[in-house]
Amino acid sequence: MNLHFKTNEKGNLEIGGADALELAHKYGTPLYVLDEMRIRDNYQRVHQAFSSEYSNFQIFYAAKANTNLAVMRILEQEGSGIDAVSPGEIYTALLAGFEPERILFTGNNVTSEELQFALDSGVRINLDSVSMLERLAKLPGAKGSRISFRVNPMVGAGHHDHCITGGELSKFGIMEQEAVEIYKKAHKLGFNPVGIHTHIGSGILDPEPFKLAVQVLMDIAGRVHQEAGVEFEFIDFGGGLGIPYTPEEPVLEIKKFAGEIVALYKSKLSEYGIDNPTMCIEPGRYIVGDAGYLLTRVNTIKQSYRKFVGVDAGFNTLLRPTMYGSYHHILVADKPEAPTTQNVDVAGNICESGDLFARDRPLPEIEESDVLSIMNAGAYSFSMSSQYNSRPLPAEVIVNNGKVDVIRDRETYSDILSKQNLPLRFFK
Ligand SMILES: *Cc1c(COP(=O)(O)O)cnc(C)c1O
Repeated sequence: MNLHFKTNEKGNLEIGGADALELAHKYGTPLYVLDEMRIRDNYQRVHQAFSSEYSNFQIFYAAKANTNLAVMRILEQEGSGIDAVSPGEIYTALLAGFEPERILFTGNNVTSEELQFALDSGVRINLDSVSMLERLAKLPGAKGSRISFRVNPMVGAGHHDHCITGGELSKFGIMEQEAVEIYKKAHKLGFNPVGIHTHIGSGILDPEPFKLAVQVLMDIAGRVHQEAGVEFEFIDFGGGLGIPYTPEEPVLEIKKFAGEIVALYKSKLSEYGIDNPTMCIEPGRYIVGDAGYLLTRVNTIKQSYRKFVGVDAGFNTLLRPTMYGSYHHILVADKPEAPTTQNVDVAGNICESGDLFARDRPLPEIEESDVLSIMNAGAYSFSMSSQYNSRPLPAEVIVNNGKVDVIRDRETYSDILSKQNLPLRFFK
């Protein structure tokens, strides 16, 4: 069993030293719970694994996995940088205390106004297309900027087609064969291109495609260095490091993974005579995924053509099972280690039949009012939530050594309507 969880002396699920049942009772459900120490441990594990092999190493936490300010502050304290994919994430990262130089903006299909925002913020800009380069060049203050390019290495990997971001079907990055020219063009336009970047996908447990992408990117970097005269300050391999979602999935052996990647990196640096640039990766899921729990209460058990366990969260709260068919392990909070006795469907409260957290899932006996914990809900969970069906967004709490802080208040019905305006003529 590779899932990360603890049981306390009462036999209940424990999160960061707090009792999951008590959290659900005190703060209501659905409730997102984050374990602060797990986030810190995950960060340090990856950082150690790579920096012990190559000291000039930097993590850019992929903010879109979880943009809560508390999470961002924790990572700022740990020494991380930020991979921001939108102006909103730049804004959040700056508010969380990251210096602009520690923020890399990797947008795609970015407007010129958004480019101007990034430029004015002083963050590093990673370009995704020739269009973006040409439009950036026209903006006041762009000349001399230290920029990088995202390259599509024609290698993709990920847990679902939607999450594969390399290869010929992917909308991301510039083509390998245009790389040298685009760096030359950047020089001509007065930029200072200092980086190269790729991100091949998300949820990677097999190191092989990642290693292949490193190799391809390094070969491209080598050509860009030799043919376009670029002195790289950083080379960024993106994120995608996976975590086990099912009890059977393997844990990524991070030390071995890091050792292999760094060895490849170093050999390519010497092959092409590239001088000691910062090696970067951008994990999101790996850092926050297993640090988050979604607590949801069972309100209805229905024996229909199948047995449905109905809960008070839905795909508005956690989209991954519906959008990707993702597996999220489910535990009963007052007996996380109880043997399974039945196969049931765990269904949410949204009016769509695709709103299921699990189909035909082996689970222990469950009664109405039991609290379920949906595991690995720290990444792409709250950050993908919505108010669909006019359901207010849930609260988020963070726990450290039994101490609980609310880091996002539960929304109210008036929050759902807060941006709507009803024109006067509708009152006549
Ligand atoms: C989403 C994303 C990541 C992080 O992916 P994970 O699978 O969460 O590690 C990293 N870099 C970029 C550019 C991304 O879009």
